[in-house]
Amino acid sequence: MNEKALQEVLEGVIRGVVQQLGNQSVTSATTDVNTEDSIPVELSARHAHLSEADAIALFGAPLTPVRELSQPGQFLCKERVRLIGPKGVIDNVAVLGPSRGSSQVEVSKTDARILGADAPVRQSGDINGSAGIILASQNGIVGLEEGLIVASRHIHMSTEDAKRFGVADNDLVCVRLEGDRPLILEDVLVRVNENFKLAMHIDADEGNSAGWSKAVSGKLVGKKCGAAHGLCKN
Ligand SMILES: [Zn+2]
Repeated sequence: MNEKALQEVLEGVIRGVVQQLGNQSVTSATTDVNTEDSIPVELSARHAHLSEADAIALFGAPLTPVRELSQPGQFLCKERVRLIGPKGVIDNVAVLGPSRGSSQVEVSKTDARILGADAPVRQSGDINGSAGIILASQNGIVGLEEGLIVASRHIHMSTEDAKRFGVADNDLVCVRLEGDRPLILEDVLVRVNENFKLAMHIDADEGNSAGWSKAVSGKLVGKKCGAAHGLCKN
């Protein structure tokens, strides 16, 4: 093969590779999720869910509702608790009702650091082997061997919303928070239930890092990202 023929063959191969790469990027840029509609973003401050027994141990009575929360059936209680960790204390922590089978305390990573507790990032309800914490009120004290978690960021949506956004229960999606400090959050868990009202829940650390205010909304960017950043469009 002479030099010119060799060059032509090589050019052909390179063209083929480039074309293939081009096709790939077109494939990965198509996304079947709805990237247009806004998702309200709510900041979940640190809070505790209590079992009935723990509520009675702390307050001598069942919980007292004071305000409905955005998810139907959930409410803020009059009662407040103090969290006591190995390194620090956090006072005046909100209690949410209704009471649950097991007590669970949701804090940010910053709170966990203040308390000196190694709270794992978990989906609400998944407290097996999570960190311990002491809860105190004026009347009582309760030690939880486990139950302290950093809640995974998540989106509540109805079955209809899930259809509209092109996602399903337990999908992991990427969401762009459109605040003063725009930020794409990966691994946002989708929770679908016909009773849920559309809302994304983030914690204080996530909110502050994105300059969160009530005006901030989120937009789906895509389903779970590839690590070598394909910009979330798989
Ligand atoms: Zn939530």
